[in-house]
Amino acid sequence: MKQQNLFGPELLPWEQADQNDLMAAQLVFNRPVETTFDYLVPDHLRDRLRPGQRVLAPFGRGDRLTTGYCVGLERPQRSHGLKIIHSLIDEQPILSDRTLALARWIAERYLCAWGQVLETVVPAGVKNRAGTREILMLELNAEVLSKHPQVKLPAKQAAVLQVLTAAGKPLSQEHVAREAKCGSGPITALRHKQFIRAFPRRSDPRDAEMEAIEKSANLKLNTDQQRVLDRILQALRQQEHTTFLLHGVTGSGKTEVYIRAIQEVVSYGRQAIVLVPEISLTPQTIRRFRSRFASVAVLHSHLSDADRHSHWQQISSGNVQVVVGARSAVFAPTKNLGLIVIDEEHETSFKQDTTPRYHAREVARKRAELEQIPLILGSATPTLESWCRAQAGQDELLQMTRRVEGLPMPPVTIVDVRHDPIRKKGGAIGRALHHFMQQALAADGQIILFLNLRGYSPVLWCRACGQAVKCPHCDVSLTWHKERNEIVCHSCDYHNVPPTSCPGCGDAGIRYLGIGTQRLEQEVRSRFPQAPCIRMDSDSMRKHGSHDLALEAFRKGEARILLGTQMISKGLDFPNVTLVGVIDADTVLHQPDLRSTERTFQLIAQVAGRTGRGPKGGRVLVQTSCPGEPAIVRASEHDFLGFARAELEQRRSMQAPPFEHLARLIIRGPDEQATLAEARRMAETVRAAIATHALPIRVMGPAPAPVARLKGSFRFHFQLSAVQFETLQDLWRRVRDQFKPAADVEFAVDMDPINMR
Ligand code: ADP
Ligand code: ZN
Repeated sequence: MKQQNLFGPELLPWEQADQNDLMAAQLVFNRPVETTFDYLVPDHLRDRLRPGQRVLAPFGRGDRLTTGYCVGLERPQRSHGLKIIHSLIDEQPILSDRTLALARWIAERYLCAWGQVLETVVPAGVKNRAGTREILMLELNAEVLSKHPQVKLPAKQAAVLQVLTAAGKPLSQEHVAREAKCGSGPITALRHKQFIRAFPRRSDPRDAEMEAIEKSANLKLNTDQQRVLDRILQALRQQEHTTFLLHGVTGSGKTEVYIRAIQEVVSYGRQAIVLVPEISLTPQTIRRFRSRFASVAVLHSHLSDADRHSHWQQISSGNVQVVVGARSAVFAPTKNLGLIVIDEEHETSFKQDTTPRYHAREVARKRAELEQIPLILGSATPTLESWCRAQAGQDELLQMTRRVEGLPMPPVTIVDVRHDPIRKKGGAIGRALHHFMQQALAADGQIILFLNLRGYSPVLWCRACGQAVKCPHCDVSLTWHKERNEIVCHSCDYHNVPPTSCPGCGDAGIRYLGIGTQRLEQEVRSRFPQAPCIRMDSDSMRKHGSHDLALEAFRKGEARILLGTQMISKGLDFPNVTLVGVIDADTVLHQPDLRSTERTFQLIAQVAGRTGRGPKGGRVLVQTSCPGEPAIVRASEHDFLGFARAELEQRRSMQAPPFEHLARLIIRGPDEQATLAEARRMAETVRAAIATHALPIRVMGPAPAPVARLKGSFRFHFQLSAVQFETLQDLWRRVRDQFKPAADVEFAVDMDPINMR
């Protein structure tokens, strides 16, 4: 008999039985859709599904089975029309509740979808369970051996037993073969005789790396370091969640402070994460941590999927004390995190340039808050964002104003090259710099030359029409690479043979102007033929490992001159470098970017930090055509405080960051007019919402982006500016549904943008 439903429309038969007993999972997908979706959990998955697992579920048009992340489980508000989860991908959660919460915060903070963040948080190697290599371990079978005390064995087999006896513990087959100088034959023979046993073990990528490194003792801290460390230890012991801004000049020994703080954390059985710019993950940096801790995982971009997976497992099982890595290491799944350190806090590479466009510093801030642990931000040239927070007392400022061991800061000389005779003839190294290079080489010192442009000539210029030759796909000047004899676009992959005549007007008078690192190298080799030189830029350092080899050669003194791009401006510690030359301080200064002066200051201060690190001292020459530029003058005086004060005043009057938050919308498409029309429509939508809801937000634009064409797409942008980022979030929630752009047009939203191109 049919049951009578007293409370409303009839339920579907399968819903009837146990309406109160149904379970729904909240899923998110890697799509730009900022909602969670309720799905019914079928009975057979009920006891197996937990938040943090991935599932397959029908999604979107055509209900294609799609990977979704389970972010919650609840009794459903309704069951009507809910789709059903198809199957589990993970038997165990791969994400903790805390990581889910952190990812959700990122999605809200950076105006993107939760699922998009989760997709980034979990490395590919973990998602596809990239095979962790198994290695074969060998051990003696004492029982069998004791029954044959006098057995005569061939020499190789005897050697194998010898090696294993001496070790007194299981060894990998590879290791045994190497030590006993044999192949696999004798080992197999011994296994047949049951004299030894073999068993597989998962390889740990840390094994090989850790083995070779000698442990070293603590340095004796100076009073500055001790004072700073004491404060951090206090925070650790009292389990304070405090963010410290450690402003320490270059060479003040910040790393030693981090290490001591981490030792404290490790003594509690907890873990630490140290974020450094990818380019600073040099063997020298890694050695500094490996020589002080038993178990250090290094997460860099060249790891294989399998190694990444293995690291993830080791870290989440609590076997790793210290995780050192670039931006994404902020997501390392540590079991019981005790401290996060971000070295070179000012580095722009901590901001991701694709969705989710998060800043690792802000994510670290949130993670430290969720875990109630301290966060240390270290830099000689903090961002004005961090500096402002410290000044306002939101973060705690710690300072180290002197270099270790009483080493002085190097004197910095600004060289006005506007009238330099050598520069007038097209040379890169002016008269003064040439003189000091000769001097440094004569005194057995080493030299670092910094130039921000790669290639040979950064501009091909037509005398007849006065135009620079541009990439056919981008609004970017082409650079001549002499080594390949090609003209290259540094924004897309375009390259071609150099034109014999101007593509614009057909005139044959094309000139190659400007100086890139290749041309600088040629000049150095011809003017200082006796001094071996190494060039480091992304062209010469394509192969993985070449960067490390070059630095090692320079450290050993095999090269006397190291020249290159940003790659050489960071963190290097070579005591024998007595001269640093900045070939052109103006390249960054003239970029259309609100942070161009800040970047110029940072660059000079950081490059200058590479010298004067040994008993011979050092000096810095900065070539510029703007010798009066305050950022350059203040950097030459090592005056961060003065620079920050003046620049902040400027920013305040411009209502620019750090006083306001920006959101930048980039609209791109293959058709210029259609793209512009979309940009206008979106800006109008935004303006209308701002007016309706009386939101305190300024809108600037739309206008062509500074790089108005990129990879064949026309680019427009507009910017939103507000004192509170929450106001921008509020606006975003109100307008995002109206942002579905026309076909062919795409848009991206960048919260707190750093890249303004
Ligand atoms: P920063 O990161 O502040 O530029 P580093 O941590 O790289 O400085 O330290 C610079 C150099 O000084 C390193 O070679 C380091 O080993 C050394 N150093 C650090 N602390 C001390 C100390 N207390 N006594 C002697 N040398 C030190
Ligand atoms: Zn291009």
